[in-house]
Amino acid sequence: MSELVITAENLTKVYQMGDVEVHALRGLTMSVERGEVVSIMGPSGSGKSTLMNIIGALDRPTAGDYFLDGERVSEMDDNQLAEVRNRKIGFVFQSFNLLPRATALSNVELPLRYAGVTRGRRDQARKSLVSVGLADRVTHRPTELSGGQQQRVAIARALVHSPRLLLADEPIGNLDSTSAEVVMELLRRTADEFSTTILMATHSMEAAAITDTVVRLRDGHIEGIERRSEGFRDRSLAGD
Ligand code: ADP
Ligand code: MG
Repeated sequence: MSELVITAENLTKVYQMGDVEVHALRGLTMSVERGEVVSIMGPSGSGKSTLMNIIGALDRPTAGDYFLDGERVSEMDDNQLAEVRNRKIGFVFQSFNLLPRATALSNVELPLRYAGVTRGRRDQARKSLVSVGLADRVTHRPTELSGGQQQRVAIARALVHSPRLLLADEPIGNLDSTSAEVVMELLRRTADEFSTTILMATHSMEAAAITDTVVRLRDGHIEGIERRSEGFRDRSLAGD
C-alpha cells in the first residue's frame, strides 16, 4: 500500500515587489509517496526554490493547500511551521552550511538541541555519523574534511532526528563527480532503508537518473512528470 507523505493542491506563490507582482508558482499540484525520491528540475527562475521552501515549511503559499503527513501545513502560523520543521523535516544545502568551528559531532547534534532533546544526544549524533560512513571523523572540523565528507556530515545532521522528509537543494552542486556519486548513493540508500521521502532540486541528469520521479518545472508550472518505472523518456535523461 502506498502512503502519500506530500499532497500539494493548486499551489500559487506571488511575491509582491513594490508595485510588481512576481508569480513564482501558478497552480501546482503534485503528490509524493512515502520513501519516494523525487528530483525537481527546471531552468533558473522556474520556481524550484519557492516550491522547496513551501514544502519545507519555511514559507506559506499565497493560495492552495499543502499537506505533510496528513497535517495541513499551508494554514499554519510561524510557530507551528517551526515545530513541523523540527519534528518532520531535514535539510541539506549546496554549500553544506556547517558551523565551521564545531566538530562533526557537534554539528550533527544541533537539530536535537533545537528539538529540545536533552538525553542521548551525543550517542544519537555518533550513530548518524557512523551511518554515513564517517565513524573515524567525528572530532574533525569542517575545514579538516573534504567537500564530499562535509556533505555527508550535513546529511547525518539532516537525518539525526529521523525526519519523514529530507529536502536537498542542489546537494551535489559543489562536489566532484566521485563525491557526488557517494552522496547520491547515500540518499538513495536512506530512502530505501528508512522509507525517508526525499525531494531534491538538481541540475544534474546523473543525479536525477537514480531518483524515482522527475518533476520538471517551467515558469511556475509543472511541465512534466516522469517516472523511472516507466523509463525516463525525456531526451536530456536519455543521455544524448
Ligand atoms: P528557481 O529556484 O527555479 O531558480 P525561484 O523559486 O528562486 O526559482 O524563483 C521563481 C521566481 O520568483 C523568479 O522569478 C524569482 O525572481 C522570484 N522570486 C523568488 N524569491 C523571491 C522573493 N523572495 N521575492 C521576490 N521574488 C522572488
Ligand atoms: Mg533556486
